[in-house]
Amino acid sequence: MNKKILIINTGGTLSAVIKKNGLIPGLSVHDMKKELEMVSGDTDIEIEDFCSLDSANIFPEDWSALAQKISDCRNDYDGIVVIHGTDTLAYTSSMLSFMLRNIGIPVVITGSQLSITNPVADAMENCRCAIHMAASKIPGVFVAFNRKVMLGCRASKVRSLSFDAFESINYPNIATISSLGMKIDSAYVPERTGIFKLTSTYSDKVCMLKMFPGIHRSLVESIADQGYKGLYIEAYGIGGMPFLKHDFIGTLDKLIQGGMTVVVGTQCRYEGSKMDVYETGKRALEVGALQAHDMTGEAALTKLMWILGMTDDVKEIRDYYTINIAGEMTSSPV
Ligand code: ASP
Repeated sequence: MNKKILIINTGGTLSAVIKKNGLIPGLSVHDMKKELEMVSGDTDIEIEDFCSLDSANIFPEDWSALAQKISDCRNDYDGIVVIHGTDTLAYTSSMLSFMLRNIGIPVVITGSQLSITNPVADAMENCRCAIHMAASKIPGVFVAFNRKVMLGCRASKVRSLSFDAFESINYPNIATISSLGMKIDSAYVPERTGIFKLTSTYSDKVCMLKMFPGIHRSLVESIADQGYKGLYIEAYGIGGMPFLKHDFIGTLDKLIQGGMTVVVGTQCRYEGSKMDVYETGKRALEVGALQAHDMTGEAALTKLMWILGMTDDVKEIRDYYTINIAGEMTSSPV
């Protein structure tokens, strides 16, 4: 029997049309039906519009509603494909990996760099790859782009124009398509650790900050003054931050004492943090900062939002943050 795949459209360039103010997502699934059917192979597809947004206009409440929608439909389909703008796709795929933890079917997010109406676009190829992965029976949340499939919580947009816009960061691809067909490396698919449970809550009191020479401590103090409960900092190198002329780490100490959860990662695209090497990282660990290890920035941020949506308990937050939930972090970081 043919596999049944649901395609949910949220917008982005894949569905774009040119208007006087620039490109906007304007095509509905019905406008794209012919093209989607052309790449559906031997699957039976059903198509649905969820929203029609440039992904710059996607907000956490959209992640929640999308996770709820996928959860509601999961027993009626063999797999689900989500069409999404590429700009914030990796935030959505990371958050869905947490909200849909242990989902029993493939959920594959895709988009494109050119509209499906453009004859030289990557759109149809990306949809073909996503539908094929959605029919694979391999459960989890994935991103399909440019003939490769990545874990949703490891994907990151690394190029703004090229068709090869996404990479799997600090983790191998799950599948690639070549002249030998689609080769899926199931050894890299994280095992399900329990039964599926939708957790679509999140905290919107989480902030992300990139460290730069000259940063003022007053900036982070004002974040706390505004009631933020979580802060993800992209620090230098393997997780260094200043403590001499301006005692930034001393300020973090005060914020952590006051109940804020602070996670420290790196500005480097690859290889992650290792804060116990330099004094500039070790001091932050000593005042209670958590580290992101080899997570992407998108996963580190959305994991914090997701956990703070579930609990205020400091110990529970720390425990949750340090375990690998969906494959986002190498299990025993060294
Ligand atoms: N601005 C678009 C979006 O993220 C870019 C794209 O889809 O490629 O919605």
